[in-house]
Amino acid sequence: MPSPLDLLEPIVRDVIAPAAADTDQQARYPRAALDALGAAGLLGLISARAVGGMGRGLAEAAQVVERIAQDCPCSAMVLTMHYCAVALIEPHAPEAVRRAIAAGRHVSTLAVSEAASRSHIWAPAGTATPADDGAVRLDAHKSMITSAGEADSYVWISRALAGEGNTLWLVDSRLPGLSVPARFDGMGLRGNASSPIVAQDVRVARADMLGADGAGEQLKGMYLMPYFVTLIATTSIGLMQGALRRAIAHVAGVRFSDTGSTLADLPTIRAYLARAQLRADQARLLRDDAVAAAAQGRADLRMRLLQVKAAAAEAALEVTDTAMRVCGGAAFRKDLGIERLFRDSRAASVMAPTTDVLYDMIGKALCDEAAPSPERTSE
Ligand SMILES: Cc1cc2nc3c(=O)[nH]c(=O)nc-3n(C[C@H](O)[C@H](O)[C@H](O)COP(=O)(O)OP(=O)(O)OC[C@H]3O[C@@H](n4cnc5c(N)ncnc54)[C@H](O)[C@@H]3O)c2cc1C
Repeated sequence: MPSPLDLLEPIVRDVIAPAAADTDQQARYPRAALDALGAAGLLGLISARAVGGMGRGLAEAAQVVERIAQDCPCSAMVLTMHYCAVALIEPHAPEAVRRAIAAGRHVSTLAVSEAASRSHIWAPAGTATPADDGAVRLDAHKSMITSAGEADSYVWISRALAGEGNTLWLVDSRLPGLSVPARFDGMGLRGNASSPIVAQDVRVARADMLGADGAGEQLKGMYLMPYFVTLIATTSIGLMQGALRRAIAHVAGVRFSDTGSTLADLPTIRAYLARAQLRADQARLLRDDAVAAAAQGRADLRMRLLQVKAAAAEAALEVTDTAMRVCGGAAFRKDLGIERLFRDSRAASVMAPTTDVLYDMIGKALCDEAAPSPERTSE
C-alpha cells in the first residue's frame, strides 16, 4: 500500500504547486487541491478504517501538511482545519458523516473564533438555546473561519445549552440562517476563504451535539489540541522550508558581472541562511517531539503543545524575513514565490491561541511549578 506521502507527491506536483500563485493572487479557494486529496483518500487520512478511512494519526497528518505547505501554505491551512475538525468528528459524529469524509466527499472546518470574544477562543459569546420545536437554536457572529461558505460542515462552539461551559456542534453549512457576509481579502493565506460567518436562528438537532453539553473545553483539550497546535505549527514549518529552498536556489544562481561570484559566495549571505536553517530545524525538532509526546502520552505533553505553535510561528516570521533579505530586490517580485510565503507566514502567530497568549500560558505553567508550597509562603 503506498504511503500518504507517495499518494501526495503527484498531487503537489500536478495540482497544488502549479496553482499556488493563482490561489494567492485571485484569492481562489483551493477546491481542485481538495478534490484531488479527496480522490486519493487523504481527506480521510485520520478517519478510522472502520468507516473507510486510512486510520492514520497526527504523525502522518503532520507529514502531509508539511509537504503541502512548502508550496501552498493556503492549501495546507485549509487541510489543517479539516483534520482538526475530523479529530472531533471521529469520536462523536454520526457514521454517515464520517464515511463521507473518509470517501473524500466532505470537507469540514473549525468555527471557533468570534467577533466578541476575539482570540479568547475558550470564551465564546455565541449561544445555543432550546427552541419550541425541540430543536436547538444557534446564534453567533464568528469572526474569521477558514473555508467559510466552502466547507460542508462546521465544528462549531457555543456557550452550553444549560449551565456552565461550552458545547461543540456539528453544523451543516447549508442550514438556513447561516450567512457569510464578506469575502475574505487577506494579506496572506488569501485563498483560505477565512471569512466571518453569521448564525441567526440556525436550527440544529440535539443529536448534532458533539459529546456532552458543557464539555467543549474538555473535548478540545483531549481530541483537538494535539492536532490544532501541531498542524498550525507544521504549516509554518513547511512554509519555512519552502522559503529557504527558494532563497538558496536564488542566491546560488545569480552572479555579479564585475566579480563573477554568486550571492552565495558572500559569507554574510551564507551566515544569514545558516541561522535561518537552524531556526527552522529547531522548530521542526520541537514539532517532532510534540508528536512523540502525544503518541506516548508523555507527562510533558501539555508543555510541548503550548510551545510548538509559538516556536514555529515566530520562527517563520524570522525565516521568511531572512529569505526576503538575502534575495534583495528580487524577492519583491512575485515570480520568486518568497513574498507570498512571507505574507502567508504572518497568520500563524495571530491565530488563536496567539503567540502572546501561549507565552503567558507557558510562563504561568513555569511559575506555578516553582510556586512555594503553602507552608513556605512566610519565607
Ligand atoms: C488567516 C486566518 C485564518 C483563520 N482561520 C480560523 C478558523 O478556521 N477558525 C477559527 O475559529 N478562527 C480562525 N481564525 C481566527 C484566529 O484564530 C483568531 O481568533 C484571530 O486571528 C484573532 O484576531 P483578533 O483580531 O480577534 O485578535 P485579538 O484577540 O484582538 O488580539 C490582538 C492582539 O492582542 C493579543 N492578545 C489578545 N489576548 C491576549 C491575552 N490574553 N494575553 C496576551 N495577549 C493577548 C494577541 O496576541 C494579538 O497580538 C483565523 C485567523 C486568520 C488570520
